[in-house]
Amino acid sequence: MNSPETSPSPDSSSLRSAELRRELKQKIPELLQLERLIRNYPQHLNAQVELMLQVQHLHLPLYSITLGTTDTSAPTLLLTGGMHGIERIGSQVLIAWLQTLLERLNWDSHLQQQLAQVQLVLMPILNPVGMYLNQRSNGNGIDLNRNAPVNAEGDVPLLGGGHRLGTFLPWYRGKKNTPMEAENIALEKLLQKRILDRSFSLVVDLHSGFGMRDQLWFPYAYRKKPIHNIADYVALKLLWERSYPNHTYAFEPQSIHYLSHGDLWDYFCLQARSHQQSHFLPLTLEMGSWAWIKKRPRQIFNLAGLFNPQMQHRHARVLRSHLLLLDFMLAATLNYQNWLPDSKQRELLNQTAKSLWFN
Ligand SMILES: [Zn+2]
Repeated sequence: MNSPETSPSPDSSSLRSAELRRELKQKIPELLQLERLIRNYPQHLNAQVELMLQVQHLHLPLYSITLGTTDTSAPTLLLTGGMHGIERIGSQVLIAWLQTLLERLNWDSHLQQQLAQVQLVLMPILNPVGMYLNQRSNGNGIDLNRNAPVNAEGDVPLLGGGHRLGTFLPWYRGKKNTPMEAENIALEKLLQKRILDRSFSLVVDLHSGFGMRDQLWFPYAYRKKPIHNIADYVALKLLWERSYPNHTYAFEPQSIHYLSHGDLWDYFCLQARSHQQSHFLPLTLEMGSWAWIKKRPRQIFNLAGLFNPQMQHRHARVLRSHLLLLDFMLAATLNYQNWLPDSKQRELLNQTAKSLWFN
């Protein structure tokens, strides 16, 4: 089963046989792409195996990648993807962005200066076993984003909001009063070690499979009340929309769409709050895969097609189209002191949030 393991030697790829590499290339090419970046840019990044996960006859590493300053007071951007194994496009977007960033770090002095002032952490493949098996849940049949110890305060969608019926249905939360899954504990440890102690940290967790358009959701998922630091979120939303007026992401609290049990980012927000870390801002990017289906309806007959663009030109467009958003998030993290609201603005932004979403 899952054996927690941290290793300073990031590259388990050199030990694999040619046969195993062929199999991985077919089933989880994203992992090989990530390992190629780890091998090719050691001067810019630190890679860590947070966990080794066993599936059938092989072991898959759960990687974290760290770039930028090691100054522990620096603001931090955390980017995660692939929490749901079927939603590969999230991992692919992150790996594409990382590739561009690493290559630019070779020659772009402006980017080098940026990274000298900010910590960047990536976990592009949070659920390698689910991705290998091409399924939403992890290797134990548990939905990692219904698995945190948080219960919704209100009605949740039947099954989709999380349930405890069993692994034979998707969105299974796991058994009551048991620890979270190993992947989630690895993420929690990383947050505690590198992120929750910061004066400011932003998270973007990439998903796909809901809605016609790209959406940025912020907590809570467990209740319809505004989160305590909603003024920060409104300020970030306005910053994005004023800086990039031609972009079309919806930027909203998740709870206006649906409530769910066991949301990981709710859980981490509650933890941050209990640690007095009031500027911890996780966001979920839900890429609007229904639009890809609308353009190519027969994708609906293929499970992966519900969550991922399948035409090559559309796939390339999705990989390109979020680069700007991620660049923005990096700049917003670094410059947080220039846009975080003061107490007077905060009141106004709280009112704005109320009139936008909570009336
Ligand atoms: Zn998802």
